[in-house]
Amino acid sequence: MSRIDDLPPLRDVIARFDLGARKALGQNFLLDLNLTGRIARAAGDLAGVTVVEVGPGPGGLTRALLNTDAAGVVAIERDARCITALADLVEAAEGRLRLVEGDALEAAVEALAPAPRAIVANLPYNVATPLLIGWLRRIERFRSLTLMFQREVADRLAAKPGGKTYGRLSVIAQWRAEVRPLFNLPARAFTPPPKIESTVVQLVPRQAPEPAEFEAMEAVTAAAFGQRRKMLRASLKSLGDAESLIERAGLVPTQRAEEIPVAGFAALARAYRERVER
Ligand code: SAM
Repeated sequence: MSRIDDLPPLRDVIARFDLGARKALGQNFLLDLNLTGRIARAAGDLAGVTVVEVGPGPGGLTRALLNTDAAGVVAIERDARCITALADLVEAAEGRLRLVEGDALEAAVEALAPAPRAIVANLPYNVATPLLIGWLRRIERFRSLTLMFQREVADRLAAKPGGKTYGRLSVIAQWRAEVRPLFNLPARAFTPPPKIESTVVQLVPRQAPEPAEFEAMEAVTAAAFGQRRKMLRASLKSLGDAESLIERAGLVPTQRAEEIPVAGFAALARAYRERVER
């Protein structure tokens, strides 16, 4: 047995350090080490990879990650109580676990973790989407992201054109990454249980994404899905001269946002960018 497996059960850690879950920090802990092991395995081959974990909490997923072949784990946590509670795990990890106290939204992950790097996390749901958008901007710097989301967010990430779930998040995520929903976990798997089911999703960077600039992609998807029931010729008016943008992108003015595939949005983003430059 590794020294990590000799550590006290997570429930004891929670009781000893008084880690009552704080809703404002999106704390829903996983205490079943079989489940955390399953998530760590879902991340795939981590040999030689530095794993970044956001929000280790009492350390269940962190333990599982340290039991893989990963070169090491860098865990970023905002809650000082958890930092204190994780001291024994840092010691048991014998130099493979670095704890960083701070806000993951502000953290320069690349400076903390050498390449090759991957992110594996049971995300705090209140900041899961902004965290993901930040990583998608620079996803080529990561091998993969293996992340727990609320099921509803996971559904949006993986949604295809043609339905209500398809939106900005689907387009931007699928433009930059291959999105693979892996498995669901019921609310009762967490302490305390959230209101809804959760899903582990893996995002693997696309080698050759459709060329477009991130800001332009954000602008065109915000305009189009901001008024998703309207035809493009109306919803894109906020960008100015909608008709010419649509024509340059090779789209049809009477189409609505939810009918446009990722490649169509990338073409719109390029047309928009060209016009801004002119
Ligand atoms: N990984 C643990 C587990 O699976 O049991 C805890 C997951 S819990 C859903 C989310 C964790 O993220 C909490 O420990 C919380 O304190 C932490 N957290 C919340 N907001 C954060 C932020 N902005 N930056 C870093 N950690 C954050």
